[in-house]
Amino acid sequence: MTELHRNYIGGEWVAGPSASPNRNPSNVDDVIGDYSQADATQAKAAIAAAKAAAPAWAAGSIQDRSILLDRVGTEILARKDDLGRLLSREEGKTLPEGVGEATRAGHIFKFYAGEVLRLAGEKLPSVRPGIDVEVTREPIGVVGLITPWNFPIAIPAWKIAPALAYGNTVVFKPADLVPGCAWALSEILVKAGIPKGVFNLVMGRGSVVGEALVNDPDVAGISFTGSVSTGRAIAGKAVGRMAKMQLEMGGKNPLIVLDDADLPTAVNCAVQGAYFSTGQRCTASSRLIVAAGIHDRFVAAMTEKLKALKVDDALAAGTDIGPVVDPSQLEQDQRYIEIGKGEGAALAWGGERLKRGSDGYYLSPALFTNATNAMRIAREEIFGPVACVIRAKDYDEALAFANDTEFGLCAGIVTTSLKHASHFKRNAQAGMVMVNLPTAGVDYHVPFGGRKASSYGPREQGRYAAEFFTSVKTAYIAP
Ligand code: NDP
Repeated sequence: MTELHRNYIGGEWVAGPSASPNRNPSNVDDVIGDYSQADATQAKAAIAAAKAAAPAWAAGSIQDRSILLDRVGTEILARKDDLGRLLSREEGKTLPEGVGEATRAGHIFKFYAGEVLRLAGEKLPSVRPGIDVEVTREPIGVVGLITPWNFPIAIPAWKIAPALAYGNTVVFKPADLVPGCAWALSEILVKAGIPKGVFNLVMGRGSVVGEALVNDPDVAGISFTGSVSTGRAIAGKAVGRMAKMQLEMGGKNPLIVLDDADLPTAVNCAVQGAYFSTGQRCTASSRLIVAAGIHDRFVAAMTEKLKALKVDDALAAGTDIGPVVDPSQLEQDQRYIEIGKGEGAALAWGGERLKRGSDGYYLSPALFTNATNAMRIAREEIFGPVACVIRAKDYDEALAFANDTEFGLCAGIVTTSLKHASHFKRNAQAGMVMVNLPTAGVDYHVPFGGRKASSYGPREQGRYAAEFFTSVKTAYIAP
């Protein structure tokens, strides 16, 4: 047994009733550490600790809050290389991607350290003479933060930092597959001086710990990122007890390539968006909708580019694509590759299980051609290094395909036409739109989120995070 990493509840590091090993998907023999698994009783204790700490934290000094968040950001940035390495080791994205994600987490804490001091309200005249009206924001109370495995430090950071900045207390449940970054981030918060009970970490299964958060009447809000099916299931329960909800879920993001596109830009956007981070991004461009005039050149250039990509150990120098995160995601990717073939799409490249120096879940990036937008591989989120090319006769048909989906997270277009770029920006049914950029890769100081089945509730990140993490109060004052 390696070192046991404990939960953090009410200001104490506490072992769970059980523990599980955290394994490296690039090398399954490499155990990163053992991590406690909380049960419902520990989740309840964490909620009680957060509830007890809430009044003092909400009423406390915003200067202290800002200093603490800034200290956390500084420490993350100072340790970005180690944290990035841990991230790549437990999740499988490449080391530069891991370090980039850790850096982003540091910047997020620093951004919200500033936002603490900028939570403005409004003062208006009343329609009744002699009365003033004030609109202010207050913390919502205890928040339950439930995160997925694919961004093990950035997503926790973009929920924890605003939750604390706006005066809430936190119970954090990370994805069971990636407790390492969650634990390291929690340790940084503790060392930075987070007061007892204000922040609590409960690692463990969603069906146990997650459920406990969703169902507890003392948890005022749930911010969840994960799959549509889990999101739907928990929304029913949390909304049923009138909790505030914020759900960020899946995507089937289109990238349109028009005839007038710069071909290298199109290929770079498609490869980056569809395959980097092993395609395990909610913003991945898994539908490449390509106009007829450039289609064959695009497919030829994509295939050449994919052949040159190095799939290997996430920590190895020069790796472009790391392993799939675990056996069940690998099984899902391979199943969809068979579904694609069965539906009549042509596997132009990849989709093979690869052997490397270590025993990891390696899969070569798969590109389907001859796909239609009606196929399951074009409609369902695969969440792996699998993309399909859908031929469109012109821009209008490409836009119609792009919008014909149950999702609406991000949509991209590669074109040199201002007319089409402007039209697409207005008419793409998505929360985020990219022109001549990959669909994946966003800033941290502006809103993040989508439409339709991709998101529910207020946006995350930037100032818009205040919509979820605060409650608005309108006060009428007569002299
Ligand atoms: P899941 O929905 O399986 O899990 C997300 C989180 O919810 C995990 O912490 C999980 O716990 C927990 N959970 C599972 N069941 C319950 C439950 N009954 N009650 C409460 N919590 C529960 O998603 P994945 O972790 O597999 O992540 C991949 C998905 O996340 C993809 O569909 C992807 O598109 C989406 N995603 C969306 C993003 C966005 O912002 N739109 C960003 C990143 C990912 P456990 O660890 O036990 O599984």
